[in-house]
Amino acid sequence: MKRPEDFAPPSTQAMERFAAIVGGKHVITDEEAMRPFLREWRDRYVGRAACVLLPGAEEEVAALLRTANEHEVAIVPQGGNTGLVGGQIPYQGGNEVVMSLKRLNRIIDIDEVGATMTLQAGVILADAQEAARRAGFVFPIDLAAAGSCMVGGNLATNAGGLNVIAYGVARENCLGLRAAIPSGALIGHLSALRKDNTGHDLRDLFIGAEGTLGIITSAVMKLHPAFTDTALAWVGVETPEEAVRLITFVRTRLERSTLTAMELVCRLGIEFAVRHMGGRDPLQEPAPWYVLIQLSARGAAGSAMHDMEEILGQAFEGGLVIDAALAQNASQHEAFWKLREDMSEAQKHEGGSIKSDISVPVAKIPEMIERGMAEVLKIVPGARPVPFGHVGDGNLHFNISQPQDMTKEDFLARWEDVTTAINEVALSLGGSISAEHGIGRMKRHWMQRIHTPAELAAMRAIKAHFDPKGIMNPGKLLP
Ligand SMILES: Cc1cc2nc3c(=O)[nH]c(=O)nc-3n(C[C@H](O)[C@H](O)[C@H](O)COP(=O)(O)OP(=O)(O)OC[C@H]3O[C@@H](n4cnc5c(N)ncnc54)[C@H](O)[C@@H]3O)c2cc1C
Repeated sequence: MKRPEDFAPPSTQAMERFAAIVGGKHVITDEEAMRPFLREWRDRYVGRAACVLLPGAEEEVAALLRTANEHEVAIVPQGGNTGLVGGQIPYQGGNEVVMSLKRLNRIIDIDEVGATMTLQAGVILADAQEAARRAGFVFPIDLAAAGSCMVGGNLATNAGGLNVIAYGVARENCLGLRAAIPSGALIGHLSALRKDNTGHDLRDLFIGAEGTLGIITSAVMKLHPAFTDTALAWVGVETPEEAVRLITFVRTRLERSTLTAMELVCRLGIEFAVRHMGGRDPLQEPAPWYVLIQLSARGAAGSAMHDMEEILGQAFEGGLVIDAALAQNASQHEAFWKLREDMSEAQKHEGGSIKSDISVPVAKIPEMIERGMAEVLKIVPGARPVPFGHVGDGNLHFNISQPQDMTKEDFLARWEDVTTAINEVALSLGGSISAEHGIGRMKRHWMQRIHTPAELAAMRAIKAHFDPKGIMNPGKLLP
């Protein structure tokens, strides 16, 4: 495998060819103008690049890749730069070239009969959601970075997010895609067919490949009929066991609605959000754990609330929940969600924060939390675990805030030890060390631990086919 440092900077001739393809003003070399493309929001990954390329058409992406391949220039694809594992940021050497998809931001078509949206890879997720909403549909992906991340990035990372319990991950919602590969070809079909059994499925290779095979330039995504009615409850429970029992409890009692979100939040997370983000605990008395439950319906107004009230009433009687607040209007609905979404940001104000993104079978979540916390405290006594996440699909962001009496630097120096302990607990429970953020550069050293030699050989062979010179995102994903 070629490493980023094996690549020379693009030659003058390569730079001239890049400029001829996209136009000189879309080849950024000015240090100041490149800066936003070279660091991610937490400043955990900061890199350098020879230039940033901004193609405006799919054919330009393909032509740029052909040129990069001929001149052996390393390419780092970038969407909205919200990735959390460093995949979209070049290394420090300064010879790599970032290719941003931000100008490929066109929604090509919404097919209301087929319930699909065809769009370019650089469409911002929130714009896709809004276009779907205006057409009477729901776009299936939603996450807290929706205002910045792009649909191409969502596919390249096989994003999960808040709606997985209702619609599945990004892969399950993509019917077809087109990708540019280093040979300069555009491959794949913008097919909206739900049935098309005509050979090996190349689409699935690019989803979750994190830009290591080629660049996704456009896709056809499923849309879902819009819900007309929603009910949201902020529920207090005693332990994670109750939160997990609540999932089946809710699912088996739904009459008129569907479960569209189920999020677990720990008490400390709410304290942080209230302290730093201006939020307010919706419950009168603090609870040890909270579950955010969203039900959605297409029936008459009040259908979802009917189910919510019935189910929570029964859960209350059965001692499963301590207390609950129901969002009574749109602004309360927004406030409940904001409290959940502020969780990562709020942790920033409490000093160093070690992040992890694991998944386990849903029934194992309580054991994951208990054993994970115990392991972390053995390594860093006084550390403050802030686990939260998409409990409905087994995904926890097992984040740890630093002890109050420790420096941020000393705490962050334990990153590897702490995440290793958490990951090992997840693996022992049949889980994954990366539920939805991907591997990038952060978790690359785990690939040999989690995949067999035969699996890694197959992945390398696929990479070698599409990218024989190793120009696509070197030093990411594959060890
Ligand atoms: C506040 C916050 C909340 C988040 N919540 C979630 C969540 O709930 N669920 C979740 O899954 N993720 C979450 N994320 C992570 C991130 O938003 C997702 O990984 C998202 O899908 C990345 O999209 P992007 O456009 O920003 O991609 P980028 O960050 O630009 O890139 C991510 C990776 O994809 C590659 N890539 C980007 N575009 C393309 C393309 N067109 N073709 C090929 N490769 C490409 C890059 O090289 C890189 O390896 C969150 C991030 C933040 C900051």
